[in-house]
Amino acid sequence: MKKFIGAHVSAAGGVDNVPQRASEIGANAFALFTKNQRQWVAKPLDEKVIQNFKAECQKYGFRAEQILPHDSYLINLGAPEQEKLEKSRAAFIDEMERCHQLGLTLLNFHPGSHLKKISEEECLDRIAESINLAHQAVPEVIAVIENTAGQGTNLGWRFEHLAYIIDKVDDKSRVGVCIDTCHTFTAGYDLRTKEACEATFSEFDRVVGMHYLRAMHLNDSKIPLAGKVDRHQSLGKGEIGWDCFEYIAKDPRFDSIPLILETIEPEVWADEIQQLRLFAIN
Ligand SMILES: [Zn+2]
Ligand SMILES: [Zn+2]
Repeated sequence: MKKFIGAHVSAAGGVDNVPQRASEIGANAFALFTKNQRQWVAKPLDEKVIQNFKAECQKYGFRAEQILPHDSYLINLGAPEQEKLEKSRAAFIDEMERCHQLGLTLLNFHPGSHLKKISEEECLDRIAESINLAHQAVPEVIAVIENTAGQGTNLGWRFEHLAYIIDKVDDKSRVGVCIDTCHTFTAGYDLRTKEACEATFSEFDRVVGMHYLRAMHLNDSKIPLAGKVDRHQSLGKGEIGWDCFEYIAKDPRFDSIPLILETIEPEVWADEIQQLRLFAIN
């Protein structure tokens, strides 16, 4: 199967529970938090949990390229204040290290916020430098920058922000992008029709480059186009609609990368995955 489709699954009780949970909803990809996403520090991963996670991935047929860990929401890699920046960088390196211990190769994160205390450029420079520092500290893992809805002072909502960061990352082989459809849409890029998707993704290709696309979050949006607010909705029940998700399912440019649902009704994830697969094969 060329399409890796799944959801952000709960890691309650331990990360080693995730592969089975993902398999139960018919997923061949998944996202997870490797620690509590609302806390700064977590105890190191237990060696038994690491081994069990790897065994479970093998058992249910998940390889590293089908798995998209997400970092903590507290981290701001572009933080204006030195203390917060250092805390964020240390926490991010710890997240990357946890991924490496689990045999994972991607780490998805939100770029950062300037909090109106520094310029956009200064903030983007800090984010790029944070990625460089993480690369120096941990081998192999790819930093996957997620585009944002542009809510508040969050950067990364314009494709130009992503391109700017990538340009300042030294090791281009270890940086990539995760495009979230809800964020893209509320940031102002239309996705409601096949033609709109065509235009938005050629814009992405022109500004950033499709070869940097390492993952996607498939979410519909409760908020209209360019609303600059991040509120996910189940597929087909929001402002974007099914055409966009059919387009992505059918287009080979989105093969072989994790396509992750973060939609708001986990009870329909299995149906959403099945529908996307139907589009992909027809
Ligand atoms: Zn997302
Ligand atoms: Zn979101």
